[in-house]
Formats: sequence, structure tokens, C-alpha cells
Amino acid sequence: MKNEHKHELFEQYPQLNELAKKATVLWENTNWMKNPETTLFTMAEVDDAEATLQRFSSYLKVAFPELLESDGLIESTIKEIPAMKSAIEQAYDVAIPGQLLLKCDHALPISGSIKARGGIYEVLKHAERLALASGRLKEVDDYAILATEEFQSFFQQYTIAVGSTGNLGLSIGIMGKKLGFNVVVHMSSDAKEWKKALLREKGATVIEYEADYSVAVEQGRQEAEQDPKCHFIDDENSKDLFAGYAVAAKRLKEQLERTNISVDEAHPLFVYLPCGVGGGPGGVAYGLKEIYGEHVHIFFAEPVASPCMTIGLMTGLHDAISVEDIGLDNRTEADGLAVGRASKFVGKVMETYISGCYTVSDEELFTSLGLAMESEGLFLEPSAHAGMYGAIRLLQQGQSYLEKNALVNHLPQATHLVWATGGSMVPPTMRAAYLAKAEEFN
Ligand SMILES: *Cc1c(COP(=O)(O)O)cnc(C)c1O
Repeated sequence: MKNEHKHELFEQYPQLNELAKKATVLWENTNWMKNPETTLFTMAEVDDAEATLQRFSSYLKVAFPELLESDGLIESTIKEIPAMKSAIEQAYDVAIPGQLLLKCDHALPISGSIKARGGIYEVLKHAERLALASGRLKEVDDYAILATEEFQSFFQQYTIAVGSTGNLGLSIGIMGKKLGFNVVVHMSSDAKEWKKALLREKGATVIEYEADYSVAVEQGRQEAEQDPKCHFIDDENSKDLFAGYAVAAKRLKEQLERTNISVDEAHPLFVYLPCGVGGGPGGVAYGLKEIYGEHVHIFFAEPVASPCMTIGLMTGLHDAISVEDIGLDNRTEADGLAVGRASKFVGKVMETYISGCYTVSDEELFTSLGLAMESEGLFLEPSAHAGMYGAIRLLQQGQSYLEKNALVNHLPQATHLVWATGGSMVPPTMRAAYLAKAEEFN
């Protein structure tokens, strides 16, 4: 981006100055709509994803016995976290009206992060397409046959490639290798050693880059283009990933109903989603808005060093602006969120869907990490703690949003849902290191 353009942008969007200084801000989306529409995506694609996952349930039970209990569904629970709520209220001297819920995607089976939704879905959909086209599989078959030797060697002719900061690679790698595919994961410099080691142990090829996520993705895309038998999972543009993530919204609706949690005018639902390139939180946000319309209020959470979706939406430039353009270095301990340039596809859909974005500092992430362990015995990876600050930011910096949308009086009946996006796969030694670091901030 040219310097003279930057100057104009900072004048036009003064909040960029605060973001450039790594301040913790809440940006309110003035294009937010009660019942938005988009031409870029449909709920039918989400229904298809749900049906595909259902067809694969018998296979998944054979491939991953941990899924026997859920009858082959990859799903997480919701739970109240009252002790964490008190801990946050005390630590930050705020009262949070309403209840605080956690969506436990950190404990999703198979790969322990939100990527177990979109990532695994895209691998399964691709496998199904190949198997159907070969005549080896019919839609009416019991998909458990995909676990047989015949299919293993069939999939061995094909490669799946992906660029990742870590968790997407992990999901694609574990699922792809289980089916028999060759898997190549292009890892950014942020990716943690243990994630690379685990992938290699599973038989995936891991290619490491000194550069950040965007470069890893671009290299992966280029290499995959040379090979007609290679499918590239494009974290920046994939509608399949998005559809897989969005399935969570339909399932959440059922979970809230089962636990008698209402979502209506008198009971607003606030959802706080950690955001990297945008696909995971975007898919969930899309689905939830389609279901709940004006009664759901969705905020994306980003590290102060990597607010790519915030600046993309604020300026309307989407992937034409990067965090480096405003002088930020994209360096954060929240490895899953270390993305400098947001997905244009997701940003475009989100223009009228999300209520806003906010930023969190690494110190806050570690403070929350310590508080969650102390209060609830709950461990989440640093990225996932970005969601914990949603209620605080909204109450302290989102007054105009609350007033404009007549939410103030309904806050005592509100539900704040923090989307816990990852953590259960973090090995004990890393956990201990994170907790030690958290001690420094508490
Ligand atoms: C990937 C990831 C996110 C964000 O998802 P995007 O699709 O990159 O926006 C959030 N939290 C964790 C732990 C992740 O791994």
C-alpha cells in the first residue's frame, strides 16, 4: 500500500491510530444489520455440510473410537463458567450482567480446536468426491467401508496440501492421513514445534517457512497447482471450510434449546469469537445470524499485533490492507490468530453480519489463561482466551452499540458465549510453560 493512501486512511478512520499503537479497542460495525443477506453464500451449503458429516459418521466411529460416544459426530458441549465470570469481574473491576457460557471447541474430538469442524469437513468432502467418481463408493453405502485397505490405497494416489499457522494443518493432517492421503502442510513461522512434530509422527510432510502465514499459504497454493492430483485447502478462500464451520451454528441452536436458554428480544445472545484469517469465526457468525437475526450480536477478537479483520472491515479494503500497512508486526503468542491479512471472501460476507471487532493484548491472554486455570481448572491455548474479553470490552467501550440497539435493559437476561477455539491437544510441557508465563501476569 502506498504511503499517501495510508495517510488518507488514518484521517478517514481515526481508530487506526489507536490500533497502530496496539491499544485495546472495540470497533463498532456501523454497517451491521438486523437481518442481513448475502449473495456470496447460502444456508443450503451448510445443510449439505451437515448431511455430509452425517454420512461419514459411521466411518468416523471406526476411524476414531473416541467418537463412539457421540455416534460419529464431531461436536463439543456448552457450559456455564461462573467461577471464571467472578474471577474476571474481580480482576477487571467490572460487573458482567447475564450469564457467561463457554463453547468448548477446545475439546473437539480428533484435533482439539475449531479447525476440527471446517478442516475435517473439507477433507471428508474431497474424499467423498474422489471415491464417488471412482465408482468405488455410492452415497447409499455404509461409509465405514472407507476404513478398509482398498480405500486406503486408493486415496494414497492423491495429495492434500494446506498452509497454516498450526491448528488447521493439524486437523487436515490427522484426518487426511487417517484416510490414506498424502498430506503436505506448509507451516508459518508462528507454528509451534509440537504441532509440527505431531504431524510428522502421523506421516504428514511438514514444510517450514521463516515467513508468516500468508507466505505459507501462497507457497502451498503454488506448489499444489503443479500437481493435478493435489487438492489445496485454501484457508483464505474456501467455501467448504466456511460451510463446515457454520454447521456449529445449527448444533448450537439445539444445545441452547436443550439447556432452556432463550434467545429473543428480551434475551440477547452475545458471541465472542477469536479471529485469524476469518473462516472459523466467519462461518459460525454467518450461521448464527441466519438463525437468530437481530437477537444475536457477534464480535470477533484479535491480538493487538494482528487485527487484520478489524482493519479490513473498518476500511472496507479487506485483503488489500495488512497489519504491516499500519505499522504492526503480526507477532503474538496467540499463534492461531497470527494472520496479517484477512480473507476477502469472509470479510465481504461479514460486512453486515457482525456487530464489531475488538483487540486484546498478549498480557491479557495470559492473565485470562491463569484465571481460567485457577477458577475453573480450565486450560485453553492463548488464542482461545481472546474471546474471554468480549463482555468487558462491550461493557466498557461498546456503550453506544448497546444504547443504539436498545440492549441496555436486557443485559441482566443476556447470554455471553465465549467461543473456546483450542487447547486440549497442547502437550503437558507446553501447558506448564504457558501457565508459568501466566503467573508473571497475575
Ligand atoms: C484458527 C484458529 C482461530 C481462528 O480461525 P480463523 O479461521 O483463522 O479465523 C481461532 N482460535 C484458534 C485456536 C485457531 O486455531
